[in-house]
Amino acid sequence: MALPLAGGLLPSAQADSKPNYVITTDATYPPFDFQDKNNQYVGIDQDILKEIAKREGFTYTLKAMSFNAATQSVSSSQADGVIAGMSITDERKAVFDFSDPYYRSGIAWAVRQGSNIKSLDDLRGKTVALKTGTSGADYALSIKDKYGFKVTYFNDSETLYRDVINGNSDATFGDLPVLQYSIKNGTKLKVMNPKDPFNAGEYGFAVKKGANAKLLAAFNRGLASIKKDGTYNKIVNKYLDASASTFTGDQSNNDTTWGILKANKQAFIDGLMQTIALTVIGIFLASIWGIILGVMGISQSKLIRGISTTIIYIFRGLPMLVLAFFIYIGLPSFIGAKIPAFIAGIITLVLNEGAYTGAFVRGGFEAVDRGQMEAARSLGMPYNMSMRKVIMPQGIRIMVPSFVNQFIITLKDTSILSAIGILELTQTGTLIVARNSQGFRVWAIIAVIYLIVITLLTWLSNWVDKRINS
Ligand code: GLN
Repeated sequence: MALPLAGGLLPSAQADSKPNYVITTDATYPPFDFQDKNNQYVGIDQDILKEIAKREGFTYTLKAMSFNAATQSVSSSQADGVIAGMSITDERKAVFDFSDPYYRSGIAWAVRQGSNIKSLDDLRGKTVALKTGTSGADYALSIKDKYGFKVTYFNDSETLYRDVINGNSDATFGDLPVLQYSIKNGTKLKVMNPKDPFNAGEYGFAVKKGANAKLLAAFNRGLASIKKDGTYNKIVNKYLDASASTFTGDQSNNDTTWGILKANKQAFIDGLMQTIALTVIGIFLASIWGIILGVMGISQSKLIRGISTTIIYIFRGLPMLVLAFFIYIGLPSFIGAKIPAFIAGIITLVLNEGAYTGAFVRGGFEAVDRGQMEAARSLGMPYNMSMRKVIMPQGIRIMVPSFVNQFIITLKDTSILSAIGILELTQTGTLIVARNSQGFRVWAIIAVIYLIVITLLTWLSNWVDKRINS
């Protein structure tokens, strides 16, 4: 079951000679990039890109993730281009080549509706919520000391807005058109400087500096062509006209948990399948790797024991998120090859969960009474055979509960991989909430799905446990 899922993430064989590019985007950035109610990516950016690709004769695979991950995927050569309401700044020009600008924007700040904050001076001692890696965050940081506020970071806009609305933080800085669009669609925030944004700026499509010149040229040509014949204006008006429909589309489905489940059935199923694929492959490979580490850990050779201890020490010590970013964002630019997110996710799981597994496997073997080994040896069995026939069977029995525990942890840890843009269950939740703002219901649904899968996994493990230990 897992294989076709993994296969879908690998580059498919090209039937014709059209170039196919990997393009990243911000998963939650209406009206530029977001999903409609059929889980299709739409928005000004997406419509522009689609039209340009058609005219210029290229195809692309779209990867939606956080803005920060989307830009870093391109700077680390994991993807060819990024379109995500990305502001053209001098700092970024050192790392990216930008297309001709396609939209004018500026930075605004906003507070929750009904807040008594009236001016930037009122922010003293308050907390400002920022989106990681954005120009809005940079701007806020540049005035942070002057106005004496603290900052907190989020990866997606919707969670960030929620934080301000719920009162955990007091204000946010971000792109004016995006804030206004969300407010028009019911987000209970208020823009404080609608007339005079701080930094006027422009959005561009970006590729890594010096790379993908063909793609960039095609984008520029296509952009000029859609501007010329009015298609560009049509696209922008579709989302920003006074008559433009709201991005949440049909709200009637969102009033009940059942409605949300039904409207997003396919997205939930796809997310769940991805989570299960990660879990099953992750558990399988991590167990093998962990057993190898564990056996190495009780080797007679000091060197081999040392290697095992060091590997366990490193990968148990690293936060999984750091490991995931290192493998997905860091490694590719170092080795000069792409690592698909799914593969990077599996490697992360195997290294991290494998280290924990290695530790308890070693512990399990060590827990077998020393007399067992002595007895086996005195019967004339060589070391390896005593290990295999006497120590291991007893050790494995001791370890079974730890394995069950580790399987459950692996399943839960897959949610961390949402950060590198894998569309598993947690990332699916983020996307749906970005669309319907129903955080309570959607996260409750996701929580229940996790619990159901964990229950099934526990049953299965206990069944195996009984068979081994009786
Ligand atoms: N325009 C902002 C930037 O480029 C924010 C983009 C976004 O959050 N998608 O930093």
